[in-house]
Amino acid sequence: MKKYKHLFFDLDRTLWDFEKNSVFTLQEMFEEAKIEQRAHISFSDFHEYYVGYNLSLWDLYKDGKIKKEHLSVQRFRGTLEHFNISDETLSLKMAQDYIRISPTKTALFPDTITVLKVLSKRYSMHIITNGFNEVQFIKLKNSGLSPFFQEVITSEMVGVQKPHKEVFSYALDKAAALSDESLMIGDDQVSDIQGAQKVGVDQVFVDFHHDALKCNPTFHIHSLSELLNFL
Ligand SMILES: [Mg+2]
Repeated sequence: MKKYKHLFFDLDRTLWDFEKNSVFTLQEMFEEAKIEQRAHISFSDFHEYYVGYNLSLWDLYKDGKIKKEHLSVQRFRGTLEHFNISDETLSLKMAQDYIRISPTKTALFPDTITVLKVLSKRYSMHIITNGFNEVQFIKLKNSGLSPFFQEVITSEMVGVQKPHKEVFSYALDKAAALSDESLMIGDDQVSDIQGAQKVGVDQVFVDFHHDALKCNPTFHIHSLSELLNFL
């Protein structure tokens, strides 16, 4: 078994339960803006459309076709317009509220803290995340994750997103880690797994949803506690 020294974790959907925290946030905003009364739709109608639309905007952002400022407002503007609400003031308010409220939510995947406590005694641990700077640091602090990590690398710092090679090279450099003593742990087969493969770093695919395997990870797990079987 290879001896690792550095563990690099993805944050969203690997440790921090993005979907759960996002739903809590959107539901609060939906109720506050009285969208049910204005558009005669349920929260689940609103949420279902928002999720798909937001993903399509993220794809454009990842390809460098739109800016983050556009994405953060357009996901609400476009969702509201889909339900026949043209309200620029509300779109801007929801964009700001989402960025302000969602990172304060603290839902983590099962056993996150227990597993990190054990691993932090054995390894240097770091975060590599594609999120926005101002949001990711608040999430780490509020959910009690900050103390476990030495370096936090956001793609915004590097100027490109995972799976770009530069993000991983930058992270290795910042952590003073060699690729063959490092392990990338993440839920995204392209961003995390294929990205780490580009710089010769071993990978753990954290597959909570039993997705179809499209990559060839070094390790493949379905819960965080399984990390303790080999680390
Ligand atoms: Mg992720």
